[in-house]
Amino acid sequence: MGRAVVFLRWDAKRCRHCFGCIAACPQNALGVDETGNLQYEMHRCIRCFRCASGCLYGALSVVREET
Ligand code: SF4
Ligand code: SF4
Repeated sequence: MGRAVVFLRWDAKRCRHCFGCIAACPQNALGVDETGNLQYEMHRCIRCFRCASGCLYGALSVVREET
């Protein structure tokens, strides 16, 4: 049986760059680079999904992939 990997997917087209997700993250797993793209550090993420549930624009989605 494979393992499931759960992570976030960021949709640049939907994102309004409000950065509420960065403020909501208790793990400092989200940031923004010099071009304005959201950066996600998966190794810091505890999968609480405060970021995705708080995004008003549906730009963050939770993805589950079987490996
Ligand atoms: S909360 Fe949503 S719209 Fe705001 S920066 Fe994060 S992903 Fe983009
Ligand atoms: S799921 Fe939680 S820990 Fe992971 S990036 Fe979002 S707010 Fe941060």
